[in-house]
Amino acid sequence: MTKPIPRWLVMKYGGTSVSTAASWSEIDRQVRRATDAGQHVMVVVSALAGVTNRLQQIANQDGDWVADLAWIRDQHNTLATAVGIDLPAEVSDRLNELEQLAQAGRSPAEQASILAQGELLSSQLGAAVLARLGRPVRWQDARSLLQAGSAEHQSARAAYLAASADCDADPGLAASLAEQGAVHITQGFLASNQAGQTVVLGRGGSDTSAAYLAAKLTAEAVEIWTDVPGMFSTNPREIPSARLLKVLAYREAQELASMGAKVLHPRCIAPTRQREIPILIRQTSRPEIEGTEISPHAREVGAQVKAIVQRQGITLISMEGLGMWHQVGFLADAFALFKKHRLSVDLISTSEANVTVSLDLSEHLLDGPALQALTDELALICRVKVIHHCASVSLVGSGIRTILHKLGPALEVFEQRRIYLVSQAANDLNLTFVVDEKDANKLVKQLHQQLIPGGVGGDSVFGPTWEQLFKQDEPVRGEVPWWVAQRPALLEQLGHRDCAYVYSVDAIRDAANRLAQVKACDFMLYAMKANSHPEVLRTLNQAGIGMECVSMQEVDHALEVLPELSPSQILFTPNFAPRREYRAALDRGVNLTVDNLFVLENWASDLRGHEVFLRIDPGSGLGHHKMVRTAGQFSKFGIPLNEVGLAASLARQHEIRVVGLHAHTGSGIMVPDNWERTLTALGELVSHFDDLRIIDIGGGLGVPDKQDQLPLDTVALNERLEQVKSALPEGLELWIEPGRYLIAQAGVLLARVTQTKGKGDVRYMGVATGMNSLIRPALYGAYHEIVNLTRLDQAHDQVWNVVGPICETGDVLGLDRVLPESSEGDVLLIANAGAYSAAMASHYNRRPPAEELIL
Ligand code: PLP
Repeated sequence: MTKPIPRWLVMKYGGTSVSTAASWSEIDRQVRRATDAGQHVMVVVSALAGVTNRLQQIANQDGDWVADLAWIRDQHNTLATAVGIDLPAEVSDRLNELEQLAQAGRSPAEQASILAQGELLSSQLGAAVLARLGRPVRWQDARSLLQAGSAEHQSARAAYLAASADCDADPGLAASLAEQGAVHITQGFLASNQAGQTVVLGRGGSDTSAAYLAAKLTAEAVEIWTDVPGMFSTNPREIPSARLLKVLAYREAQELASMGAKVLHPRCIAPTRQREIPILIRQTSRPEIEGTEISPHAREVGAQVKAIVQRQGITLISMEGLGMWHQVGFLADAFALFKKHRLSVDLISTSEANVTVSLDLSEHLLDGPALQALTDELALICRVKVIHHCASVSLVGSGIRTILHKLGPALEVFEQRRIYLVSQAANDLNLTFVVDEKDANKLVKQLHQQLIPGGVGGDSVFGPTWEQLFKQDEPVRGEVPWWVAQRPALLEQLGHRDCAYVYSVDAIRDAANRLAQVKACDFMLYAMKANSHPEVLRTLNQAGIGMECVSMQEVDHALEVLPELSPSQILFTPNFAPRREYRAALDRGVNLTVDNLFVLENWASDLRGHEVFLRIDPGSGLGHHKMVRTAGQFSKFGIPLNEVGLAASLARQHEIRVVGLHAHTGSGIMVPDNWERTLTALGELVSHFDDLRIIDIGGGLGVPDKQDQLPLDTVALNERLEQVKSALPEGLELWIEPGRYLIAQAGVLLARVTQTKGKGDVRYMGVATGMNSLIRPALYGAYHEIVNLTRLDQAHDQVWNVVGPICETGDVLGLDRVLPESSEGDVLLIANAGAYSAAMASHYNRRPPAEELIL
């Protein structure tokens, strides 16, 4: 009778997972779970936390090896004491052996032997700990399980310090180990070479060991137990809104690991992928969290950015030469030198006269002498420049090429950063930008915010956010929006309607009060283009706010709705408007802005004797989308800085008194720098004008689109403005003119679900109104949070595209939104619909837009 083939599970525990008594109890529990299920278990361990770093110092002869050794001894003693055992004799012996090694030479072979001691120690101590917990376990020397492959293409250092090992299935080994017992413990990171010497697999190599062993034993799975519950959409310690990635295909995981996600070592994917062995990443201290599964069954859910990762410490080599164009063999010659100096290239980008490459960090062996030798020789065939301190920022996910158009708005975050290299991976899994190291964190944050769906609940790809998993007791950073508490009132107000905008007067007042704290501003105007509903205007005017208008119709509307409003509290800022509007504005006595030399050159007779504001283009603008940036050469607004002198002299010549300077550079801006810069730029022009009383720095103050986004820091805004203002001539008044900030969050669009359907992988939820009531998603790719108000208490855990009834593919209110299973008649709430929603509505398709209601 043939014996049944043993079933194996490989469990790898990282440094922090083997350093405490509590973790070993958990390891014991997990081992029991597997053996109870009939599996044989190979536990692969890393060195105790911090030990490899000390060993590395000893191996490099950096620092005080005696102190390092004492520290290592101490860690093992502490763990032994914590589990109530004496330090096993074999561990003491090994520590003594380490002392001998520390005093010996430092060839790569000797360095490898020193580095190997961490895992040898932890596995021997671990075997004793498990025995103490009543779990018989066989200690295996990884060097007899894993043999390093040929080192033909490697430097001597790499052969010992970044080796790779064989991973062919070895049923004989699987059977013989199974005969020895059900539970085994061995070391990660180690193998032996063909001469029987100890080699190590490179830092992070314990994952790789686990993968090799899984492949050799044809294991049913590899479990990587570590200090995080899986792979996230970005580094969660930096960005708590990072979402757990529930399932990944091997190639996605490989890419993520290679491009900087630290959870998994990139080299551990290939061996498991070959044999379709799933990898499960789990957190030792939170075993109840499901973690990330990398498996052959991961369905690739269409093209999607799944993560934004960065790698610091990138070194670029830029090779430039005029003779390079059409020069046959330049690349071959250059790369032959890389080969000669055993430096492996990672990213590459080429142009006619320049080839720039980044060096592969995966071997962690970038040594100065090799680099110097390489650049010396490259200098003979081209101009060569080494650029240190770069970082790569990569968008990772399958099918990146097919969604480049969707990335457009997100990529605008690169506008003011230096990009050294852009590389779109041949496998279509990543788009990488190499930038200055200091810019990387900020870029990752911005890209993550724009490209990864917010974490309301889970879906098939994205699980909970880090914050949801670990900070459940702390409130999310954003405030709970007013409409949560107002749910019954909102549903009641909607009544039998299919859809409606509802505005909260209290929320408008709240926004006005927040901005009133920006004491540096002497007067605030409301840009009524955002929403000119009479009740909105009245509420804001009651708070002492004036009106900024861009058409005479707006001016007349303001004067009609607000009979008390003085024309001096209105600023009219026309752009390419007909002459009659300027005349009408002067007749009404409102403040008038001139934003073109044309007006001064051609219509000066109308303006003679009057006061005006000049709208200046300070040269650059920010904004949530290029269409809302209102400064710079490609924007039609404002007098460019180089024409200000001319404008001043034309005004003087025609007896037009310039009493105000104005600039509005963009919309949806979340950083105070924008207005600080604007005020500084306008402040520098003050000396051109004798009658100047006012500087108006425009609107554009953004509000968070997503609940976990931080609001604009109005305290910082005030401080920055105060500071710049203090250097300006005394008596100058500072004005601002926000639209969105005052009204966006105060309005919601309610729309009933009409129909649902699935098309392939995509599910659509239709609602009664669409781009005729809210065109911002179609126009700017704007993000509006969407919830099912009827089922607000239910888990929002399914992915939907929310669409309207308009005959346009672009009639989308939200893509990939996480909502509950919903029924016809349910009310969806589309948030932040107070600004530029009703104001931009249309009767397209002859469908009336939603009705406006006041709560
Ligand atoms: N001021 C001017 C001149 C504008 O053009 C705009 C918007 O287009 C605003 C103020 C208000 O912008 P926001 O609603 O982003 O504050």
